[in-house]
Amino acid sequence: MAKQVGITGGIGSGKTTVCKLFETLGIPVYYADYRAKKLMTDSEELVQQIKDLIGTDAYFDDGSLNRPFIASVVFKDQSKLNQLNAIVHPAVHEDGRNWQAAQTSVYTLNEAALMVESGGYKRMDKLITVFAPQEKRIERVMQRDGSTEAEVLARINKQLPEIEKINKSDFVINNDGSYPLIKQVYGIHQQLLREFSK
Ligand code: ADP
Repeated sequence: MAKQVGITGGIGSGKTTVCKLFETLGIPVYYADYRAKKLMTDSEELVQQIKDLIGTDAYFDDGSLNRPFIASVVFKDQSKLNQLNAIVHPAVHEDGRNWQAAQTSVYTLNEAALMVESGGYKRMDKLITVFAPQEKRIERVMQRDGSTEAEVLARINKQLPEIEKINKSDFVINNDGSYPLIKQVYGIHQQLLREFSK
């Protein structure tokens, strides 16, 4: 069974960019947030549970997620948000376990923005945090998503401070632009291969 390496970092830190580099080294990546969104429209069981909890307006007629409606419901009602998480999280875990079981590489990456917040990092063999200074993250996300500084800040403020993620990590990737990412990724890849072959 492939070892599991978690990769986290705040919004705009460069997680996805770093994961793409690991993919070029042949390391499969499980993008938990992306898979969660996909399961929320593709899994019949999940769709039914979400409709029962949030209402049929949680989906548009074409079956896609009505995110603004869901957000408006859970924003007002913390217990609905907890219940939604209690439905979605186990489904993603199961999907992740099945995906992991099918991998044949020495290790895989599991990318999730809230891996430390959710406690999911405890299931990983190793943890990597991607770090970039807050000004850089805001600038990059504004550019990437066309969002405003206030919108990015609101999302940053919902996440744990970076230092708490770094303290739990085995590796930190510095993405402030001063060290090439490729070199850092390759160095960590070599180290992981050595560690996991012991
Ligand atoms: P995350 O997945 O952590 O939210 P991304 O990997 O999507 O972050 O990076 C945020 C944005 O910043 C993307 O548009 C990405 O292309 C850009 N970016 C990431 N790293 C760098 C870098 N070192 N230099 C310039 N732009 C970067």
